[in-house]
Amino acid sequence: MKTHGGDPLLSGFENPEEFGFETRAIRAGQPHDSRTGGVVTPIALSTTFAQDSVGEPKFGYEYARTGNPTRHAYEACLASLECAQYGFGFSSGMAAEDSLLRFLKPNDKILLGDDAYGGSFRLIDKIYGQNKIVHEAIDLSEPDSIKKAWTEETKIVWLETPTNPLLNVVDIKKISEITHELGGLLIVDNTFATPYLQTPISLGADAVVHSATKYLGGHSDVVGGFVATNNESLVEHLSFTQNAVGAVPSPFDCYLVLRGIKTLAVRMDRHCENAKTIVALLNEHPKVKQVFYPGLSSNKGHNIAKEQMKDFGGMVSFSVHGGRKTAEKVSASTKVFTLAESLGAVESLIEHPGAMTHASVVGSPLEVPEDLIRISVGIELIDDLVTDLEQALSVA
Ligand code: PLP
Repeated sequence: MKTHGGDPLLSGFENPEEFGFETRAIRAGQPHDSRTGGVVTPIALSTTFAQDSVGEPKFGYEYARTGNPTRHAYEACLASLECAQYGFGFSSGMAAEDSLLRFLKPNDKILLGDDAYGGSFRLIDKIYGQNKIVHEAIDLSEPDSIKKAWTEETKIVWLETPTNPLLNVVDIKKISEITHELGGLLIVDNTFATPYLQTPISLGADAVVHSATKYLGGHSDVVGGFVATNNESLVEHLSFTQNAVGAVPSPFDCYLVLRGIKTLAVRMDRHCENAKTIVALLNEHPKVKQVFYPGLSSNKGHNIAKEQMKDFGGMVSFSVHGGRKTAEKVSASTKVFTLAESLGAVESLIEHPGAMTHASVVGSPLEVPEDLIRISVGIELIDDLVTDLEQALSVA
């Protein structure tokens, strides 16, 4: 395992072939403190580091934007979980996406899924569009759509799976084979699944991006982003961009995500278990029109999900009879589920994607149905979650 710049401070627990996920989550990149024996990675606040002679930093660190020990611990740990040699921490998921996309030149083209996080689409459409970078939204669950949309200028396929908010599943291995055959790079947003449920790089992806704000942090108290990769040209690009642009996480933010990651496996197991019970309730409910969840055999990508995921995740969407009015009423009628944007933390959240997380894609090919509700199932007592949803559906 390597991290760019400075002393990577490895602990000997980084190799996925040697240590299991849960062990690496707690130990990779996190050696015991050499002065005190402390088992927790210190929050290293120093912005500058002493040099032995000009241009010879004592431990490889010069300036904290370029690299600092807490960030390197976090980068080494999460890179290991994603089965990657290199990891780069950023101040948000959007900063991570932006730093990666700066790789593109005017007239280059991006293919992206037609169900995706609204903010990613806004970045590609509004910011990169201004710089003459072209995009096309296609149905990635139909792999042939890539060949149809491919032009000489296409450089990147940008894929989310499961998708946000319709929980479609895309075949990472197949898409990576097609993308590579055509000469492009495959980027996978692994925010929804997390490396506990799927590792896209081991299925052929060239890079993985994260909103660490979600399951990785896991407690709704830190905004962060991450890119993991083994691709040498992306490593060079990201090492330069992370330092040159400087959208880096603070040492405290790195500490919080690193702490969150330690319990990722147990939290994900509980998110998945609770989600399955909620899906069973919704599936039988007369007010519910359709349930979207990769664990349902009716989901188009269910068999692919069974192949490429360890479990089906904690995100569930459903449409209701009665249109937008009913969807908004249900969303505003829960007590345990909090009406709020975001996802992936210990507390359950409910939202109306059309008016909230996906408002920026209204009028685009990514527009979401207005009778749709998205829930992020938390790790509370399942009986309380069931009772809460039942009462909210009965009010509407
Ligand atoms: N990717 C996905 C799938 C997301 O859901 C989000 C945020 O909701 C992002 C990226 C952006 O991350 P952040 O909010 O940390 O900038």
